[in-house]
Amino acid sequence: MITNQSADSSWDIEPTLTFWGAASSVSGSMHLVEAAGQQVLLDCGMYQGKRDEARQRNSHFPFHPHQLDSLILSHAHIDHCGNVPTLVKQGFAGKIYATPPTRDLLKVMLNDSAKIQEEDAAHINIARNYAEPWVQPLYTFADVDRAIDRVVSVPYGRETAVAPGVSFTFAEAGHILGSAMVSMNLEGTEGIRRLTFSGDLGRRGIPLLKPTAPLPPCDTLVCESTYGNRIHASLSDTIEKLYAAIRTTIERGGKALIPAFSLGRTQLIVHFLQLGLRAGKIPKVPIYVDSPLAADISEVYRNHPNALDETVAEAVREGHGILGGDGVQFVRSFEASTELMLRPGPHIIVASSGMCDAGRIVAHLKQNVDDPRNTVILVSYQAAGTTGRRLMEPKPTVFFQGKEWNKWIEVVHLDGFSGHADQNDFLAYLEPLRGRVGKIRLIHGEQEQSEALAVLLRSEGFPDVIVPQPGDREKI
Ligand SMILES: [Zn+2]
Repeated sequence: MITNQSADSSWDIEPTLTFWGAASSVSGSMHLVEAAGQQVLLDCGMYQGKRDEARQRNSHFPFHPHQLDSLILSHAHIDHCGNVPTLVKQGFAGKIYATPPTRDLLKVMLNDSAKIQEEDAAHINIARNYAEPWVQPLYTFADVDRAIDRVVSVPYGRETAVAPGVSFTFAEAGHILGSAMVSMNLEGTEGIRRLTFSGDLGRRGIPLLKPTAPLPPCDTLVCESTYGNRIHASLSDTIEKLYAAIRTTIERGGKALIPAFSLGRTQLIVHFLQLGLRAGKIPKVPIYVDSPLAADISEVYRNHPNALDETVAEAVREGHGILGGDGVQFVRSFEASTELMLRPGPHIIVASSGMCDAGRIVAHLKQNVDDPRNTVILVSYQAAGTTGRRLMEPKPTVFFQGKEWNKWIEVVHLDGFSGHADQNDFLAYLEPLRGRVGKIRLIHGEQEQSEALAVLLRSEGFPDVIVPQPGDREKI
């Protein structure tokens, strides 16, 4: 049974879990584990939503940061780690545990986030005509440095004690570089209780990363459910469609624009483009990745070959570059990006953001949206209200950057590149846990996705499956 308030005094000593973020939603992952006198936070993600609500939620924690003893991070996506500098700024003084690749990615991602926070505050202040009091950024580069100083890197598979009676082990989650499930052993009055937090789980059969490890057996499994009610398109079909769209574009002398998130999706797409070049499935045209952030992130990927898939390591041994070289060039400076914008095709440009609402892809779209030789290839989910979603609408024009543009560019949407498990993946991951897991709590999903997976898992014989609400607290 779940309740918001405990009337049971044994909860003071029994391991408990409180769902604070990404409960019945996908944003701001954050869960509090209390056991053996310790308070351990799992993830400290940034809530992403409407500006005012996001500011309010990200700057107010539902607990006292200085009372927390430690923080364990599942991976470096901003919705899982983006609010760590605020936590430190507000008094958290414990250790932050992360895998070695996650530690390196954190530095890149949080500094990029600090830049956005500072720009955001500046925009608000300009819009308010510098009225007092000035709006301060959620956090700054200095706050990020203080947060990074607290990070302790822990390799996969090494059991680590955060305090007497509380230990954890990271297991490969197969979602992005460094992503991990967290398996905890927590001492209670009735012995050791085991908790597994899935973090974000990758799809089966995705190349580049090592495969998702078996889910550790446990008393309580806290599992993501982003695509709990969906079956992704086949990956091999999707890759062939990507190559076909590029061939058609190149044959007519056009440019292929690929909007992609900088962490995870860009590396996957670049990897597929390199494989396509090597196999002769796409013509030898220049491939530009126009994003300093993606360049930094890809560097971290290259620095951790042991965390990547064996076939990628093999390609490196054969002398191929990974995520660069082999026809792929990263564009860092603004000047080089502007030059690229005016360069005639054919070529391929990968740039963020994934939904075309920010980043350098916007400038490339403006330059190329009214040329029928070009193609924009959307490789991720496009949320309602975004430019990406409007591009998909069957209209002769598209609205972005404050005006209506002639949409003569071809638009191709490929939805099979997801970095998240789908319903079949969940069933495959959970099957070995049948009879070896007490309860399952589905988090990190819109209500409809999580509930559908809950119904399915119950019908598959998992007895205690619930979708918790924010603030729900229960025994582990
Ligand atoms: Zn993620």
